[in-house]
Amino acid sequence: MDAMVHTMSRPADQDPRWSAIVARDKAADGSFFYSVRSTGVYCRPSCAARLANPKNVAYHLTPAAAEAAGFRPCKRCRPNEAPREQREAAMVAEVCRRIEAAETPPQLEDLARAAGLSPFHFHRVFKAVTGVTPRAYAAAHRAERVREALPRAGSVTEALYDAGFNASSRFYEAAGPMLGMTPKAWRAGGVGAEIRFAVGQCSLGAILVAQSDKGVCAILLGDDPDALVRDLQDRFPKARLVGADAAYEQWVAQVIGLVEQPQVGLDLPLDVRGTAFQQRVWSALRQIPVGETASYQAIAEKIGAPRAVRAVAQACAANSLAVAIPCHRVVRQDGDLSGYRWGVERKRALLEREAAA
Ligand SMILES: [Zn+2]
Repeated sequence: MDAMVHTMSRPADQDPRWSAIVARDKAADGSFFYSVRSTGVYCRPSCAARLANPKNVAYHLTPAAAEAAGFRPCKRCRPNEAPREQREAAMVAEVCRRIEAAETPPQLEDLARAAGLSPFHFHRVFKAVTGVTPRAYAAAHRAERVREALPRAGSVTEALYDAGFNASSRFYEAAGPMLGMTPKAWRAGGVGAEIRFAVGQCSLGAILVAQSDKGVCAILLGDDPDALVRDLQDRFPKARLVGADAAYEQWVAQVIGLVEQPQVGLDLPLDVRGTAFQQRVWSALRQIPVGETASYQAIAEKIGAPRAVRAVAQACAANSLAVAIPCHRVVRQDGDLSGYRWGVERKRALLEREAAA
């Protein structure tokens, strides 16, 4: 019966669907499928396989129709399965659960084998979906468990065991960069941590820049310098806040340079503190190029949590590093600017500045 389609319908390349195949148009996926008589397979429009001779091509509305006509699904584009992005997101979500449940961080090879991919390919897909490597994801998750355990645990050692660390030296190795301070200091609410800060003026108003011994830990924008200092105190309630010295002015100048000319970038280490989820969101934000914007929905999809749009918006609002983590580049799906922790007029000014650069 399908043979009649080949002989009786107009040539495949005179059908408007042919241009979608030539363009390997992802937007056309799902609206139709095409079979190739010479190979006996059928594909999605976006299939990366070599372009077929239109003489051998026929169109089908569903995979079932193509199979009823005697064609096999292409092994490359897998037209009878969910689209690749969905499969990958589901695979990565499963791997994340596996990492979270593991007592010790699983080996890359084991995770890749379970996912049915080569270690190289698996690593690439995981990073593309979550914005972090499997190892960084495991470390962030572990740090989050430690943070949760610290305030209620009787001792730091107990907290380590609660979080699944079986050797405390490994814990100290992993915890430093994630917590931004030693576990003891964190448990005490930042007691003993020293944070240097300075307040200056930039074209967007007052700016406060703060630095721990790990790197820049806060960039705050506002109208009132005193309010910025109070905000810093709220974010680090028990840390010792120290006013700026001369060497520090250099750092502040670099940060102000970033605000004035975002395309120049910031060549300073950042001390990023947040939950594993917030870190994934912030990592995705830092991949939005200067001059472009993304929707909250797009960021949620990018980190493999397409339904966590509200949580993404909350993570944007919790960002302590204005401009360096560019939460101003996230807008509503309809292009509306939506809110900004440091005032929507500053968001507008930053986006205009970046569009012009
Ligand atoms: Zn194919």
